[in-house]
Amino acid sequence: MPTQREMKICNPPTSPFRKGGTSKIPLFFKEGFGEITKNSKFNKLLVFSEQKLHEMKGRHAILAKGGEGGFERDFQVKRLINSKNKIPQAKMAFIGGSSTFSINFPEDLNLPGVRVLESKVFLTPFGESPEFKLIEIEGEKVLVVRMHGWRAGVSRANASRQIFWVLEQAGVKTILSEGGVGTIRKDFKLRSLIIPVDYVDLSLRKDVCLSDRYLLIMRDPVCPELAKLLAEMTAGMLPEKQVNHGIYVVTDGRHFESRAEVRMLESLGGDVIGQSLCPEIYLAREIGACYAGLYLVVNQAEGVGPDWSHNELRNIFYQEAANMGKIIVESFNQIRQRHKKSCKCSKLRKRTLLKEK
Ligand SMILES: [Zn+2]
Repeated sequence: MPTQREMKICNPPTSPFRKGGTSKIPLFFKEGFGEITKNSKFNKLLVFSEQKLHEMKGRHAILAKGGEGGFERDFQVKRLINSKNKIPQAKMAFIGGSSTFSINFPEDLNLPGVRVLESKVFLTPFGESPEFKLIEIEGEKVLVVRMHGWRAGVSRANASRQIFWVLEQAGVKTILSEGGVGTIRKDFKLRSLIIPVDYVDLSLRKDVCLSDRYLLIMRDPVCPELAKLLAEMTAGMLPEKQVNHGIYVVTDGRHFESRAEVRMLESLGGDVIGQSLCPEIYLAREIGACYAGLYLVVNQAEGVGPDWSHNELRNIFYQEAANMGKIIVESFNQIRQRHKKSCKCSKLRKRTLLKEK
């Protein structure tokens, strides 16, 4: 972080890029997220020379939000970051979880019309992103990331923010996800599939967001159209599979839950327990994207049935991965062929009413 003495404070120029010659790019700069706006006035921008920006490579440029001219500066910062990152544009994204973790998605599926174009990591305001694959399904680009972006040395909150920051920059508006869940319901069989329609978030990661630009209404958190599509695709491709809709309870993990906790979660109306739906579902709404997920029942939660076997858990993950992957690819294929959405997901994001004076 440069010291205050290294920063030059000046009035914003009308254009960040002076015509001809070397330019100075105005931007707010912060390691972290958003705090700098509290003490900043919009008539004072921090200006760095290109040389300085080069020295700061790897740090993060953050836009001061709100206020007059916010859009213009938003544009400037995106230009700066994108020019280093070259984030590809894609309307759709897949966030893979434990149910496709055991395969190399999508290569191992050997599906016609599906190919990997490139694999890349991106610099984000929340740290370097996990690796994304840009794939093509019948000519439609889809960004793919594994295991919800979780990896050693990165908090789960930041892993989620890195992913959704990239998806926002890419222009993604449709997200499918998958994972493994434990069932609270006795009638949900092992290896059956769950498409959540709502959630109870008991995780402690409550303030995971990209910014405070929006009021997010979680009335229908899962896109009804995508949920319906996933159910139809599963019924068509795996007619023997039990498929249920249900309430997904989100816990922090990484450990599973105790018997007493499972009894409590049941009393809250939960059907299955997992660790990934939130905060992804909030972040999807924040970037104005539709979100739905397909989840594999890999165990009965403690106390719901007999003690579950670790071997069986492993077998389920390995044996069901290809099925999960194929349903996801075929679902994207169906979405690709549709002309327009009729859901209201994007209307459930409103501009925040909490603006600083
Ligand atoms: Zn939707």
